[in-house]
This record gives sequence, structure tokens and C-alpha cells, in this order.
Amino acid sequence: MRWQAAPCALACLVVAGCSSPSEPDASVSQNDRFADVREKMVKEQLTSPGRDISDERVLSAMATVPRHEFVPEAYKHQAYEDHPLPIGFGQTISQPFVVAFMSEQLRPLETNRVLEIGTGSGYQAAVLSSLVKDVYSVEIIEALGDRARETLQRLGYDNVHVRIGDGFEGWPEFAPFDLIIVTCAPEQVPDPLVEQLKEGGRMIIPVGTEGSQFLYVLEKRSDRVERKAVLPVRFVPMTGGGKR
Ligand code: SAH
Repeated sequence: MRWQAAPCALACLVVAGCSSPSEPDASVSQNDRFADVREKMVKEQLTSPGRDISDERVLSAMATVPRHEFVPEAYKHQAYEDHPLPIGFGQTISQPFVVAFMSEQLRPLETNRVLEIGTGSGYQAAVLSSLVKDVYSVEIIEALGDRARETLQRLGYDNVHVRIGDGFEGWPEFAPFDLIIVTCAPEQVPDPLVEQLKEGGRMIIPVGTEGSQFLYVLEKRSDRVERKAVLPVRFVPMTGGGKR
């Protein structure tokens, strides 16, 4: 599938860019160095022909959020490469293109409140943070949710709220939501999520089994839910109620 191809030049630059030892302030210089590869990621993986991400706000978020802060130390040098990366517990942070694509498909507005299912590293939530008013994110693996919450707080993403729990049930206390983004794949769209979506709201969700999954965009109308398949994908399965 074309969005999984990893351009070698980019991978090489990322590695080269992380290895200079002579900067005075390690944290600042690392961020500056990563800013270059982040910019390159946007050009080569997001706006390039065939990828075609064009929403300026999404592109700006992707060019700003420090993805390397959301991946384990051992993978930092690969943080801006064109593929997913392991984040522990058998889970992954999605490929940058998939994060940008899903963010764009949501058509986020500054006034929106968004529910995310599958916090994982917290990266997708951080990207959404600057695009909407509030992000409510649910993670089923406690250690991952706690780590993501810490990372998000440390980096100042104050409008992201993380809860440990089964995202199959959504987050009823803060429903209804303008937008819902699901980053793990159930075999069917969970009813509680449809219920917690506002009328006129949009949900983006991968649905299917590990061998066969599509990303769907759902729009909730007064009398029906419209559903459109937009991309073949491979997400980790939704556990909890999503497995029922
Ligand atoms: N959005 C994440 C990617 C997450 S990978 C990021 O930006 O890094 C998918 C995540 O969904 C994993 O962390 C997994 O533990 C979580 N998950 C799986 N089933 C879940 C469920 N029922 N409720 C909440 N989270 C779930």
C-alpha cells in the first residue's frame, strides 16, 4: 500500500540529524534538529503527490508537535519516519500520514470537543489539541494512559484529558461530542460511540479484523448514520467491549 512506503532518503536524514554531539543545550538543540526532519516529514510524507494532505491547520500541527517526545527512547531517531513505531505493550504510534489523514478527515473546528479512543502515546491527541477546544482521550492500558498523560502535561497540552477505561463505552460524562476519533479497530462500530456523537457530528474509525480493515467516516444525521470507507488500514484491535 502506497502510504506504507518508507523513502530511504528521509530515514537516512533522520539518523544523521540525531547524531551531532557538539550542541551547547541538548534539549533545545535536539528540538531544533528535529524541527528540520519534522518539516521534511510534512513535505515528503504529507503534502507530496499521492498523499495530498492540504488542510493548513493540520499541516501546521504536524509541523509543530514534537513526535519524538511520544516515542520510546530507543526509537527517537526514527520518530519522523514514514511508518508506525512500537510504544510498548504490543501497541504502536500510527504512521504520521495516518495521523494527519485522520485529523483532516475529522474537519476539526476550534470550538469542537473531541473524543479519542486509544490514547496510546498521546501523539494523536497532541496533534488534535491545537485544532479543537478540548480532547477527551480514553486508554485501556493503564501504564500507557498514565505515561501519555504525563507527556502531554509536561509539554503543556492542557486541553487534553486522559482517562483509563474501556473506550468501547466512550466517556458518557462529557458526551455528546462534536467529533470522535478511534485509533484501535473494533469489528463493528460500538453503539455507545454513535450515541455519544452529536447530531451533525463526525466519527472516524477503523473497522474490521486484523487481515481486513477500512477506515470509515461516519456522519450522524437526525434519522440515520451515513458511512463512507476512505482508506484501507491496519490498526491494533480494540480490546475490551470491542472484542465482544
Ligand atoms: N492514538 C495513539 C495510537 C494508539 S494505538 C497514538 O497517537 O499513539 C491503539 C491504542 O488503543 C493502544 O494504546 C491500545 O491500548 C488502545 N486500546 C485498545 N482497545 C481499547 C479500548 N477498548 N479502549 C481504549 N483504548 C483501547
